[in-house]
Amino acid sequence: MTDAILTVENLTVSYGRVQAVRGVSFEVPRGGLVTMVGANGAGKTSIINAVTGVIRPTSGRITFEGVDITRTPAHTLVRRGLVQVPEGRQVLASLTIEENLQLGGWHTSGGRTDEVYDRFPVLKERRRLLAGSLSGGEQQMLAIGRALVAEPSLMLLDEPSMGLAPKVVDEVFRVIKEIRAGGTSVLLVEQNARRALRAADHGYVLASGEVAQSGPAAELLADDSIVAAYLGLETG
Ligand code: ATP
Repeated sequence: MTDAILTVENLTVSYGRVQAVRGVSFEVPRGGLVTMVGANGAGKTSIINAVTGVIRPTSGRITFEGVDITRTPAHTLVRRGLVQVPEGRQVLASLTIEENLQLGGWHTSGGRTDEVYDRFPVLKERRRLLAGSLSGGEQQMLAIGRALVAEPSLMLLDEPSMGLAPKVVDEVFRVIKEIRAGGTSVLLVEQNARRALRAADHGYVLASGEVAQSGPAAELLADDSIVAAYLGLETG
């Protein structure tokens, strides 16, 4: 067996009668960069939110660092090193950049903002400005920085490239690879399937709430039938 930091078995998530996730199983090896790709509505956000304790799964089992966390609330998981960068960044526009970063370290004695400033000099320069004054790409860096302050062992990113210009997307993917190189395991959920598969070691293709395909990311990218069936509309 591999040394997995996260194991998800038979996860099901329902909203009333809508079954958004149906029996999904996957794992993130320790130190790995795994991506889950799929179209709008495939169930990606529901999976991330179930893992991070934001929503309760209907059934299934989620294990983090060998411990069952299936019904553990989000704030407890942050303390244990499992942190989410949410879809749409969700920075607090009317707080300063510094205040946003400090929120990421609410559970420690203020958090380690220095390392984040070293990684993102633009945030340091502007630390006293309101987060709402940042561009979309800078807000994404702030959202990632806020998660890094918590010193995660596992970071889950929900569509970090969404709505960003191609150059900024390059920057976001570069940062994600650096974070992984620094020893943090990463689960990256993306609609931008080709980019995500190029960055990841292993990939899962999600369709209608189920895992349709999985394998080494390079093999998924090289398989024309998968590209045609699931990734065909992607560009870049
Ligand atoms: P997106 O890229 O739009 O975020 P996704 O792959 O992340 O898509 P989910 O957001 O997990 O997918 O949604 C999966 C399905 O569950 C969709 O059919 C969606 O309409 C439905 N859904 C999501 N959240 C809710 C909710 N709170 N109440 C009812 N249905 C929901």
